[in-house]
Amino acid sequence: MIGWVIKKILGTQNQREVKRLLPLVEEAKRQGEALRSLSIEQLRAKTPLFRERLAKGETLDQLLPEAFATVVALCRRLTEEKRKIRVRGQEMKWEMVPFDVQLIGGIVLHSGRIAEMATGEGKTLVATLPTYLNALAGKGVHVVTVNDYLAARDAEWMGEVYRELGLTVGCLQHGQTQAERRAQYACDITYGTCSEFGFDYLRDNGMATTPEDQVQRGHFFAIIDEVDSILIDEARTPLIISGPVTISTHQFDKYKSVIDGLVRKQNGLCTDWANQAKAKGEAGDLPGAGRLLYRVKLGSPRNKLLLKFQEDPAMRRAIDDAELEMYQDTRRTELYKTKEEMYFSIDERNSEADLSEMGRTFLNPNDPNFFLVPDLITKNHDIETNRALSEEEKLKEKQVAQAEYEDASQRIHNISQLLRAYCVFEKDVHYVVQENKVMIVDEYTGRLMPGRRWSDGLHQAVEAKEGVQIDRETQTLATITIQNYFRLYEKLGGMTGTAETEANEFKDIYRLGVVVIPTNQPCVRVDADDMIFKTRREKLNALIEEIKKRNAVGQPMLVGTASVESSEIISRMLRRENIPHNVLNAKQHQQEAEIVTRAGERGAVTIATNMAGRGTDIKLSAGVAELGGLHVVGTERHESRRIDRQLRGRCARQGDPGSGQFFISFEDDLMRNFGDSRRIGGLMTKLGMEEDEGLQHPWLNRSVETAQKRVEGRNYQIRKHTLQYDDVMNQQRTVIYAWRTDILNSTDPRPEVFETVDERIAAEVEARAGTDPVDLEGLVRWANAAMPVGLSKEDLLGAGGKEEWTTFLKARVREAYEVKVKFENPEAVKALERFVVLGAIDRLWQEHLYAMDGLRTSINLRAYGQKDPLIEYKNEAYGMFGELMGRIKEEVVHNLFRSASSLSAFEHFLAALPQRTGRGELPGQDQSTEGSMSIGGGGGGSTVVEEALVPVKRQGPKLGRNDPCPLDPKKKFKNCCGATGAKGCLKVTA
Ligand code: ADP
Ligand code: MG
Repeated sequence: MIGWVIKKILGTQNQREVKRLLPLVEEAKRQGEALRSLSIEQLRAKTPLFRERLAKGETLDQLLPEAFATVVALCRRLTEEKRKIRVRGQEMKWEMVPFDVQLIGGIVLHSGRIAEMATGEGKTLVATLPTYLNALAGKGVHVVTVNDYLAARDAEWMGEVYRELGLTVGCLQHGQTQAERRAQYACDITYGTCSEFGFDYLRDNGMATTPEDQVQRGHFFAIIDEVDSILIDEARTPLIISGPVTISTHQFDKYKSVIDGLVRKQNGLCTDWANQAKAKGEAGDLPGAGRLLYRVKLGSPRNKLLLKFQEDPAMRRAIDDAELEMYQDTRRTELYKTKEEMYFSIDERNSEADLSEMGRTFLNPNDPNFFLVPDLITKNHDIETNRALSEEEKLKEKQVAQAEYEDASQRIHNISQLLRAYCVFEKDVHYVVQENKVMIVDEYTGRLMPGRRWSDGLHQAVEAKEGVQIDRETQTLATITIQNYFRLYEKLGGMTGTAETEANEFKDIYRLGVVVIPTNQPCVRVDADDMIFKTRREKLNALIEEIKKRNAVGQPMLVGTASVESSEIISRMLRRENIPHNVLNAKQHQQEAEIVTRAGERGAVTIATNMAGRGTDIKLSAGVAELGGLHVVGTERHESRRIDRQLRGRCARQGDPGSGQFFISFEDDLMRNFGDSRRIGGLMTKLGMEEDEGLQHPWLNRSVETAQKRVEGRNYQIRKHTLQYDDVMNQQRTVIYAWRTDILNSTDPRPEVFETVDERIAAEVEARAGTDPVDLEGLVRWANAAMPVGLSKEDLLGAGGKEEWTTFLKARVREAYEVKVKFENPEAVKALERFVVLGAIDRLWQEHLYAMDGLRTSINLRAYGQKDPLIEYKNEAYGMFGELMGRIKEEVVHNLFRSASSLSAFEHFLAALPQRTGRGELPGQDQSTEGSMSIGGGGGGSTVVEEALVPVKRQGPKLGRNDPCPLDPKKKFKNCCGATGAKGCLKVTA
């Protein structure tokens, strides 16, 4: 009841909102009348005029009616002249002039809100209106699409409008170079996917070392297509740029070939058992078959025969029974024995793979123990109690034992991950191999997740299995959530067919209102009630019958599934019935887009996960409308109503006929986990459900929706939670990136660098003066260790108090720096100063990211301590950030004097340092600074910067003038380091 009332209010509010926009539409149409007679050239001439008016102070809002009218007029011209455009290699005729409802959509986008417009309403075209208008401001408009293919398609297709109106259009594609990207961003309008935009932001702000390395030019206005999918579905996985860790320990390539052999052996065994199970099953011995199949499950969980048996509920139960039986305490030895009868066993749930004696012998016939973890405790005990050994020998032996233990663990971990890679992870189901890379497939949406990697060596194991380049383990270098990326924009607009159910979330989190735009033609889609079954098997059988029935008369059908796996099951069943069909798993965007386009042809059957082919238009071919149009079947209710609406909306576009229905069962995940089974069970009895039969009733629909709302609420909480945590990180990132960008873009970084130095000095003086007695010695030690100021206690004793000390030190450090830069090329010094700060920020920020990850993991445990983990997290994160800032500053101070743009400048500087002997403390006495001097390049290019990280020791071994110099062995010492006046080579020597 309450829901209904709210809907009523929402409905009218929405209608009122739409009505409010109508005068603007009328105004645009009125202006359009005046433009009707203009040629394309005359329309193009409008653009510079609009820009002039903006420069004179008119606002975008004021220009809206005329700018929209210009786009409409141009579309009319293109339609009249039947303009042909090459879109993704195919010729397309332009035949679109925006409808009134599309103008409303355009206004909503421009106003920074979400336009909900049904599938097929032409959102792609709608976006051109606000995009053109906002691009006039010259700050760049970004149009965000769900995949690279759509970005390229829309940039080519809609690009015609912009180009004809005198604007430039760019398009981001995966794999473009920096220079290409910069060129795309320089355009008035840039199309691309959210990851491309987000990663560019991270690279610009976390990695670029010169302004020329940056590709983006601000975040003015973005229009996000399929906005729900981007801001809601993608919200749980952040974008991460990672780099290889410094030390890699894997041996996957080494073990790959033996594991190949081992897995082949095991598969042979398992297939034998599966065949025996088949015979037993046919002879009526179900428990016997179950026991054998359970073995197969242990040995090769993705065995083809096993998977087929598991589709049969009776057999599945028999396997489950066998498993339960084995896990009874009394049967432990039997389980152990069973495992010893195969080469290895796999525990899918705990993600573990265990070698048996048989497996170990196969791998290393001479020493099966090679693959056994040594018993360290016993061994240590034996060493400890061995009287023949001296204490020192004991220690040595223990160290050897420890090293052996670690080696073996590493080896076994590698083998175990390889076995999982072979036996649990299947190509084209869990991952695909593209361009010599292993790419993870999202198991629910079927979407590829480029750049994402499994952890703990598993990804490398899969790479070894597929024989592609094995990448090193990685660590996070930069990360941002998609939400936080889009919060950077001054204005955001979004469009989708389904935003209404999530309107609250858009409002709360993004401050984005949702306006539902009426369709251009009345929608005549027929939404049938759900068909509910007791078991999955009954459901699938009925589904196949339904497909057969409609296919017989030629009606096209789109079958939507919730996972790649169930797509494949249905495909297998259809193959058995000889029904030709296409399966889409969101793996090949372009190809899929082409298949989906044909999904409306007579007799077509298309199976797709809910993400596949999204954004591609399904047109009905001739004669199909008479058959009722496209029929959509959902094979499962999704966790979120929005995704179901999305699926239903694939048919009945622009007034076409069309229909849709969901087939569900009590065994579906949604119903098992969230359904109120008692209530529904009661309903079913009341409605009189028969065995083997589906049931249809509006009451049942409502029960299903209740379950969905429950999950939606839970998922919203999870996303909100993620965001609350990420907000903390986001504030920190904002501070760090702003600092970085400042330094990166400043033409003279020195004042900023000295600001940092001064802050450090003040903080240090404050800290040392705060103790009782005053820690003057500590202050002198710190100052001399950090900066070559040649400070002595006497300098300070006569100077007065805290304030005087600070002033004194600040002056001293400036003097010292003057001495230093005297020997340098001024431009090189600027690059160096920039590098000193960037280097410190990047290195320590990355360490901080790592530490924050750890904090995040550990903090949840504190929930048990009855503390609010979020508050705890915020507190700790705040503290850690303070420390981070302190450490960055300290490193800046330290490195400022320890870098030089060239060796000779560095040498000269060292020679000119104040020399003090006997009293006071020399620079570099502090342990931590020993040998940590570095040289940086004068040019400031990134390669030089990397080199600058190599530490240089001032005193190498003494060399003859004509000896080859270790720094550059092609040169003689006298011409290399010797030329600087040094006595030894300046390169680090081991
Ligand atoms: P959506 O993204 O809203 O699902 P699309 O942008 O993919 O829809 O457009 C669907 C189809 O409608 C396309 O084939 C497009 O050419 C067509 N279309 C869009 N706007 C118009 C229009 N004003 N007049 C004629 N056809 C249009
Ligand atoms: Mg679209």
